[in-house]
Amino acid sequence: QTNRDRKDPQPALEEAMALAHALPGLEVVGGEVVRLPKAHPGQLFGSGKLEELRQRLTDQEIGLVLIDGPVSPVQQRNLEKAWKTKLLDRTGLILEIFSDRARTREGVLQVEMAALSYQRTRLVRAWTHLERQRGGLGFVGGPGETQIEADRRAIDEQLTRLRRQLAKVVKTRELHRAARAKVPFPIIALVGYTNAGKSTLFNRLTGADVMAKDMLFATLDPTMRAVDLPSGRRVILSDTVGFISSLPTQLVAAFRATLEEVLAADLILHVRDISHDETEAQDADVRRILSDLGVDENTRVIEVWNKVDLLAEEEQLALIRQAERREDVVVVSALTGLGVEALLAEAEHTLDEVRMRKELILS
Ligand code: GDP
Repeated sequence: QTNRDRKDPQPALEEAMALAHALPGLEVVGGEVVRLPKAHPGQLFGSGKLEELRQRLTDQEIGLVLIDGPVSPVQQRNLEKAWKTKLLDRTGLILEIFSDRARTREGVLQVEMAALSYQRTRLVRAWTHLERQRGGLGFVGGPGETQIEADRRAIDEQLTRLRRQLAKVVKTRELHRAARAKVPFPIIALVGYTNAGKSTLFNRLTGADVMAKDMLFATLDPTMRAVDLPSGRRVILSDTVGFISSLPTQLVAAFRATLEEVLAADLILHVRDISHDETEAQDADVRRILSDLGVDENTRVIEVWNKVDLLAEEEQLALIRQAERREDVVVVSALTGLGVEALLAEAEHTLDEVRMRKELILS
């Protein structure tokens, strides 16, 4: 972060680390706020900081560095060379997560398009930088404006192809949805901001579940798990990609598309970090996105007010009283397990209602 970001950087760092956790196969060893009085154009950090970080990265045998902000292609190249690590900036990381999470054909296409548009802007910046350098040194020749043009055209052609494919896919979306409806068990989808506690809750709900090893589900995708509710009823729990504050605009469409599977859910658990300063604004964001996605009033949503353990006792009591007045709210701590039984009972109850309504419609 640079000094222009006056706000407390700690929550941003925590969100970035939660994002990193969302990428399978990464072991996140630490995170740190580095104050940059002025970003160095070629290497982001000043030479002293660069060397200090190099030393630590080498000592800890770090293979990947994530920088929560924009890093220019030139900076990226230089840092990777100096540190002998791979490097991703914020947009790069989010693209990786989306591409890992994309399930539907539409999602895959949207992520590909976002990645290409991202590459396109980087291509231009990389070249213009090189051109400037070359100009300064008085070089002639080499890949010039025509090369950038050619690369840009190649990307544009691919984007056009993808856009055409996407249009076809959207037309058959209804068919996809019908296919998903064939899953023989009700689907419960977890949604919410990154860091709200979705994975913790997902693991708590599925952790003790021996059925996860069941052959039937061995091939099910890793973000879906079979869970048996207290009554013995089996459901599929689906963990979605987390919502993120200040999502780069190029990624918005890809984000929506990776959330498509939420539309197939019989019940949505909206996990909220109720201890977060901006919990109300986050709630409004999530509602807007769900409604934009096409989640209508026929889909039942339970609000899971998570992380109550972080609040003072009287605040907890006030929340519990508030929740009691509403039918669609359960107060929990995914960390301590408080309220999780009540959540399961509420989920059962809601699924019963959903089933009854479905039967009414069918008969
Ligand atoms: P996700 O991004 O929504 O999947 O969030 P995670 O499950 O990764 O949780 C983000 C952070 O919040 C982790 O450090 C969790 O340990 C922590 N966390 C999750 N649930 C709770 C909770 O109920 N209480 C407290 N104190 N921390 C929690």
